[in-house]
Amino acid sequence: MNRSAQSILEQQQTFFFSGKTLPLKNRKESLRKLLSAIKKFDSEIIAALKKDLHKSDFEAFTNETGVVCMEIRHILRHLDKWAKPQKKKIELFLRPGSGTIYAEPYGVSLVIAPWNYPFQLAIAPLAIALAAGNTVILKPSEVSCETAKLLTTFIETTFPPELVAVVNGGPEETSALLALSVDKIFFTGSVSVGKIVMEAAAKNLTPITLELGGKSPVIVDESANLKNAAKKIVWGKFNNAGQTCIAPDYILVHTSVEKELLRLMKEAIREFYGENPEQSENYGRIINERHTRRLEQLLIPAKTAIGGMVKPDCSYIEPTILTDVTLNDICMRDEIFGPILPIIRYETIAEAIEVIRSFPKPLALYLFTEKQEREREILNAIRFGGGSINTVILHVASSNLPFGGVGPSGMGSYHGKAGFDTFSHHKSILRQPSFFDHGLTYPGSKVPLSLIRKFMKYCFAGQI
Ligand code: NAD
Repeated sequence: MNRSAQSILEQQQTFFFSGKTLPLKNRKESLRKLLSAIKKFDSEIIAALKKDLHKSDFEAFTNETGVVCMEIRHILRHLDKWAKPQKKKIELFLRPGSGTIYAEPYGVSLVIAPWNYPFQLAIAPLAIALAAGNTVILKPSEVSCETAKLLTTFIETTFPPELVAVVNGGPEETSALLALSVDKIFFTGSVSVGKIVMEAAAKNLTPITLELGGKSPVIVDESANLKNAAKKIVWGKFNNAGQTCIAPDYILVHTSVEKELLRLMKEAIREFYGENPEQSENYGRIINERHTRRLEQLLIPAKTAIGGMVKPDCSYIEPTILTDVTLNDICMRDEIFGPILPIIRYETIAEAIEVIRSFPKPLALYLFTEKQEREREILNAIRFGGGSINTVILHVASSNLPFGGVGPSGMGSYHGKAGFDTFSHHKSILRQPSFFDHGLTYPGSKVPLSLIRKFMKYCFAGQI
């Protein structure tokens, strides 16, 4: 076991048991410190994100610092209500007495972040973990190395290590952290590493949240507003050069509207990124050469309708759309996680549903339709983490909508109250006075069983 990781754990455990993370005043103070640090480090954050992923100032704000600040303000507004003990009605046979649920922090939580939104996906879980009263060991992704450096300074100058500590490194260092007996693990990353995390958590039976990925489909049916669909899909797919966990992975389009959709998507690409996206301030880069080469393997020149240019040494891949794609094509094997968008045609909606069901449950699903009946059909037929109708990605932006996957795309959720619950254990307490004891629960009770049966039936009928 990594000794320094062990000593961070012990330091945080001692701090946690001192009770200093419990008062809401202290938690709010931590959140306010986070907000002012984001303001203070704004230009450094933008610079790091530019170096790692060529993010524009606009994307750095809308996808990283802006959303995090919005979430922190939402938490500050609602924390008192979320943390308040909840009185619960209790059954007649338990009275006199009262029931209360207390949201208590787990203790020391480990937050492991990925590289694609390296600031947002480290700081948003950190904020809600602190709001719930935990201490945090934060492990940024080593792949987005500039942001990892920035996060280290950001955290070390904002919080004492007994409250928040940063540990840097790759698989080896993360494995050492996973071997620690922490009280909660919150992991964002790939399905394959998610399995490693779950296996490690099983050793200590540590509660976990897994925010994973998968192939998120878009359905465009024959009734869809194509102009709306084209713009939104292009934005959602090519934002951050396709390196978004809930980016549209592939399109299922009704045969009758495919040509028009393609024409409109071409127009939208030109409108957002100009004639040459490589020159555009608004178009990102692939995180590194290894991932660029991985993505290059997914291209099919004969099926490339738009884009297709790759420059591995500059980590550049043009916004690319593939048509006539089938399930046998290599781009349909795993999550693409880059700016390559395959289109598959369908004739009947049942065919589209069958394609989606042939993959593990996706993290997101998007549907473009003007038919309410279609909405109902798709929502009933397919299980997935969450999604949007007539738009993409934006379900993630509401603090009132829990965000997370299901099964292979993840377990548990966060954002707003869902995040507070994710980092809290809900402790149920029954309080009874000592002056009265009806004695019904004891063996050999003087009350006949038939009467007890009647009483219990009456109690539960009252509940329903
Ligand atoms: P990753 O799983 O490779 O890495 C995530 C973290 O795990 C990093 O901090 C890394 O250091 C650590 N790690 C890597 N290999 C490890 C190992 N063998 N043992 C222990 N730890 C290890 O993921 P990534 O490449 O950073 O991110 C891309 C993936 O994350 C995609 O699949 C994407 O869909 C998913 N993702 C999901 C969400 C979400 O909110 N659901 C958000 C962003 C990314």
